[in-house]
Amino acid sequence: MGSTYESALKKFGKAAELMNLDHGIRKILEHPKRQLIVEFPVTMDDDSIEVFTGYRVQHNVALGPAKGGVRYHPNVSLDEVKSLAFWMTFKCAVMGLPYGGAKGGIKIDPKQYSKKELERVSRRYFSEISIVVGPDKDIPAPDVNTTPDIMAWFMDTYSMNVGYSSMGVVTGKPVGLGGSQGRTEATGRGVSTVAALAAKAKGVDISKMTVAIEGFGNVGKYAALIMSKEKGAKVVALSDSKGAVYNSNGFDIEELMKYKDEHGTISDYPKAESKMSNEELKTLDVDILVPAALENSITPEIAKNVKAKIIVEGANGPLMTGADEILNEKGVLIVPDILANAGGVTVSYFEWVQDLQSFFWKKAQVNSALEEMMNNAFEETWKMKEKYSTDMRTAAYIVAINRVAFATKKRGIYP
Ligand code: NAD
Repeated sequence: MGSTYESALKKFGKAAELMNLDHGIRKILEHPKRQLIVEFPVTMDDDSIEVFTGYRVQHNVALGPAKGGVRYHPNVSLDEVKSLAFWMTFKCAVMGLPYGGAKGGIKIDPKQYSKKELERVSRRYFSEISIVVGPDKDIPAPDVNTTPDIMAWFMDTYSMNVGYSSMGVVTGKPVGLGGSQGRTEATGRGVSTVAALAAKAKGVDISKMTVAIEGFGNVGKYAALIMSKEKGAKVVALSDSKGAVYNSNGFDIEELMKYKDEHGTISDYPKAESKMSNEELKTLDVDILVPAALENSITPEIAKNVKAKIIVEGANGPLMTGADEILNEKGVLIVPDILANAGGVTVSYFEWVQDLQSFFWKKAQVNSALEEMMNNAFEETWKMKEKYSTDMRTAAYIVAINRVAFATKKRGIYP
């Protein structure tokens, strides 16, 4: 597989060409501003020492402090973190948030370690990257395999180092410790909102549609819950890393969430009509497909066999280079990651605002502000799509690039 960053640049390049982006601005945006690699030792429960590799990449800060999650996964690499930071710049910009883009990660399989070991890994990592993060500099958040508890350790570690409680240094914290109502389900909620808007654009109400979702983590399970419970869609297929399950009548997502908590996987859920592979899930005859696991999951070969009419990218970068073209040709409406999964960073922004003001909002207020921002961003992207007669991804990039380019030009190039 080629470099994910190169693949990200290609998609960005299509928008840059179409909008005739200034060459200087293009050069700036093609390079991350800062890349930090940390190698740090941690004492294990048996007193042995392991050394871990972690990253923090800040892609761009033209619009404000950098913002982006931290991933714990054995495949984390500088290329992956750079790509994720790159997408964050445009995700924040398409939503109109006053942030730049960043991302972090540790090369680790968290399932292999005890809770105490993970706490020490998390605290040491955050201490190592604290030279570049801060509530006015760079504000981390959860991503794959990182949780509100880990965010609490990050916040405490930073606070211990600076000598006072700094709530605004990370988002996605537990409610009651500077966390925001609605943050946990925010990405899934945003995915559901844009899925309903995409359905409407296709002339069908989402309540008449069937859905398949790859990944039953934070994004996938809340997207499933909200799409079925609040939007009335029929979620007929779901998966996690162990495999997929199918039910033509739709799943009871709350029950499935309980099953996942108890058994660690949904792949052997007894109430499923049938089991299938993740590949089969992606080519099912459904109306909406939501890839919500990891990047590069839909290869060009899979794209050829996709039957869904709408793809909503819950995950970051789920379409491999080449897959976009095939799907666009087939008339599939792709709601791109930088718009579709931006609900998480949007409520992270609300959390940061609440922390800085020490004044907390009710859940209904969070959800309605999120809904409004997702609606606006979808509408702006749709208008851009029509203006340039292009696909939604390119349109979303154009909306975002315009904002970053404006800020960069107004600020000027230092010194
Ligand atoms: P998570 O760790 O909570 O869940 C990941 C899910 O994907 C798990 O159910 C896992 O079993 C499944 N998975 C892993 N490999 C798989 C495979 N090969 N096939 C099928 N399923 C597989 O992570 P998450 O926070 O839900 O993140 C998922 C994606 O969404 C990532 O791309 C992430 O960057 C993106 N994202 C997350 C947020 C957020 O707020 N958490 C926000 C924006 C984007």
